Parts: sequence; structure tokens; C-alpha cells
Amino acid sequence: MDLAYTPEQQAFRKEARVWLEANVPTAPLASFDTKEGFEAHRAWERTLHAGGFAMVPWPVEYGGRGADLLQWLVFEEEYYRAGAPARVNQNGIFLLGPTLMEYGTPEQKTRFLPKMASSEEIWCQGWSEPNAGSDMAAIQTTAVRDGDQFVVNGQKTWASRGAYAHWLFGLFRTDPQSQRHHGLSFLLLPMDLPGMTVRPIRKIDGKAAFAEIFFDDVRVPAANLLGPEGEGWNVAMATAGFERGLMLRSPARFQSTASRLLRLYRATVGRGDPVAPGMRERVARCWMDAEAYCLNTYQTVSKLLSGGRIGAEASLNKIFWSELDVRMHELALELLGPRAELLPSAPAAGDVGSWLDGFLFALSGPIYAGTNQIQRNIIAERILGLPRK
Ligand SMILES: Cc1cc2nc3c(=O)[nH]c(=O)nc-3n(C[C@H](O)[C@H](O)[C@H](O)COP(=O)(O)OP(=O)(O)OC[C@H]3O[C@@H](n4cnc5c(N)ncnc54)[C@H](O)[C@@H]3O)c2cc1C
Repeated sequence: MDLAYTPEQQAFRKEARVWLEANVPTAPLASFDTKEGFEAHRAWERTLHAGGFAMVPWPVEYGGRGADLLQWLVFEEEYYRAGAPARVNQNGIFLLGPTLMEYGTPEQKTRFLPKMASSEEIWCQGWSEPNAGSDMAAIQTTAVRDGDQFVVNGQKTWASRGAYAHWLFGLFRTDPQSQRHHGLSFLLLPMDLPGMTVRPIRKIDGKAAFAEIFFDDVRVPAANLLGPEGEGWNVAMATAGFERGLMLRSPARFQSTASRLLRLYRATVGRGDPVAPGMRERVARCWMDAEAYCLNTYQTVSKLLSGGRIGAEASLNKIFWSELDVRMHELALELLGPRAELLPSAPAAGDVGSWLDGFLFALSGPIYAGTNQIQRNIIAERILGLPRK
């Protein structure tokens, strides 16, 4: 195996680096959990799209540049290196986009992918319900066929960026008599359909990070069904594979945090501040784990490029990155000591940066995209072959 980058990949890296250095906003954008920040992130996405970097591995006709997934990894490395804004359409471009490529009809691909790549349309994910979180097969929201439409009734919750998004993809029970994984279908819904009520859910910081969505006889064209009717579970598992196993959290995100952690450690030691015994080894361990996650992802991509699929091992991946992220942020707070609680704007903040915000978000990593307890169940049953009880 040749682990070196090809001249083409090196040239692409250089091109991406030069473009990002010239275009990444110098001041951080407001949080995309606010209306103002959401629109500022959309404007950034338009710039990315105009530069040809919105979704590099997608075909040109869908708004990409026809690169492969290895180039996408290179781009992600450059993206995080440049400190570029978080991707406001991540549920669209990283989760639904690849699912549409696999299951969409030609009409659906042409209709949805280009506007997703340009972020003209931002997507949210409607899977969770009040009584169906970890146990997604308990979904109760119904979508009953009526001629060339589905009539949707019920409630979804925890839809990230649902307060501002334009479209929702979700799983609905199209066969009301069905049980568990059977009789579910994957539907695509504009958020402004009559009978749809979107209620923002505010986080502890007051920002509307989520929405709960109520459906009251909402009529959706049957043409918005993705994949076969009644087989939405399989379509959703493909989405979950991209979410947990590859695209939602690329290794560059964690390598960038590991590098910042290393810099924080060096600065702390350089100032002569006391550090706990074993801190050096714990920081080094995090850095090595981020590198290991990167190599593992290159392996996953090689497998995909040679025709393989992402299977249950996506669950191993998800546990690894989410727990690593928590560990890195915990170490940073430990290094910062009492200063960790200061806002970056406080006079005594020094190099406190965004570690506290990052820590709070890292704590949600073991919950979203399927909790880590559930991922451990999947590993036990589907990889290790252990009995269900
Ligand atoms: C930041 C964030 C963003 C999110 N974004 C979205 C989104 O965009 N769209 C969306 O649909 N959802 C979203 N969610 C919701 C997320 O998918 C759910 O929170 C998650 O699936 C857990 O479901 P729950 O909250 O109902 O917890 P529950 O399912 O009630 O679980 C509670 C606890 O019990 C444990 N548990 C449950 N069942 C088992 C079991 N069989 N074995 C072992 N332990 C078990 C769980 O691990 C957890 O610790 C988001 C969540 C967060 C935190």
C-alpha cells in the first residue's frame, strides 16, 4: 500500500488552501442557532459554492466538482486548518445527499441536490419523536397514502436547525398496522406545508438549536417518497452509516482540536503554570487517537472506493470520535483551571478561547446520531455476535 498523496491530490490541497486562505471570513460568524447566524452561514455556503468547494465529491451536475472521497478528506483537512465556519447544511450535504445519490430517482437528484449544494435549501432531520429516540423503530407519526399524496399526522422533535430549515427528511409509518422496523417510509417535506407547526426549542443558552414539529393532516406528494414505500428503515440505515461512519464528523475536526490542545498544553507549561501528573501523556494520547481516527477513516474511504459499504462498524467510529472529543475538551478545561469558566471576552480570559462552548457541545456527542449505549448494543449484536439478551 502506498500511503503517499498523489501529485493530483497535492495540487488539489494547494488549490483548496489558497482559496480558503483568501475567502474564509476573518471574524467568526454568529452561531447558526440564531436567525442572523443561520443566514450568515448560508451566505458563506454561497461563497463556497461559487468557489466550487461546496461538496467536492459530488458530480458537477449536482453542484460538486467530481472529486473522489479521498480528495474530500483532503479538503476537510484544509477546511479545518483554515478555521472555516461550521457547515449549516450538514444534515443535507453529509446525510441526505449521499442517501439521495443511492436511493433517489433521477428526478429527485436533479430537483434536490443542486439546491442542497448551494444551501439555497437547508435541511433538517426528522427522526426522533417524544416516544422514539433510541428506539427509532417505535416511530408513531403516520403518513397514510391517499392517491398521489401521503397524509401525515403526529410529531417529531429535536430537529437540529429545524427552527430555520426549509426542508425536512424523516421516517414515517406508512402502514398503520405495521410493527417496529416494518411499514416505515422515508419522506421529504418542505417545512411550510399547510398543517405543519414548527416550535423552536431553546437550549440553556437561549438559542433555538432545535425544533419540535407537529403534523396535522399535512399532505405530501407521493413523489417525495425516497426509496421504496414501507422500506424506509433500510434507507434510514444508509443515512445513519454516513452520519456515524464517515461524513458528519470527519477526522480533521478532531485533529484540529488535538492540535489546539497540544498548543494549550505547551503554552501552559511554557508559562510555568502547574500541570497535573500524567497530563503530558494524556494530551499525547489524544493527539495519537485523533491520528488513528484519521487513518481509520482513510481505510473506510478506500473500502468505499473499491465498492464496499459502511456497515455496523460505523458504530465503532461514532463511539470513538464522540468519546475522544469529550476527553480532549475535559483536558483543555483541566489545563485552563478556573479560567475555563470565563467568557472569551472577559479581561482575564487570556487564551481561554472557545473551549467551554466546545466542551458543552462535546457532551452531546455521545447522544446525537444514536446514543453510545445503543452503538454498544449494535457492536455487541452485529459485530461480536453476542445474544440479544
Ligand atoms: C445535539 C443533538 C442534536 C440532535 N439532532 C437531532 C436531529 O437533527 N434530528 C433528530 O431526529 N434527532 C436529533 N437528536 C435527538 C437524538 O437522536 C436523541 O436524543 C437520541 O437518539 C436519544 O433519544 P432520546 O433523547 O429519546 O433518549 P432515550 O432514547 O430516552 O434514552 C435515554 C437514555 O437511555 C439509554 N437507553 C435507551 N435505550 C437503551 C437500550 N436499549 N440499551 C441501553 N441504553 C438505552 C440511552 O442510551 C440514553 O442514555 C439530537 C440530539 C442532540 C443531543
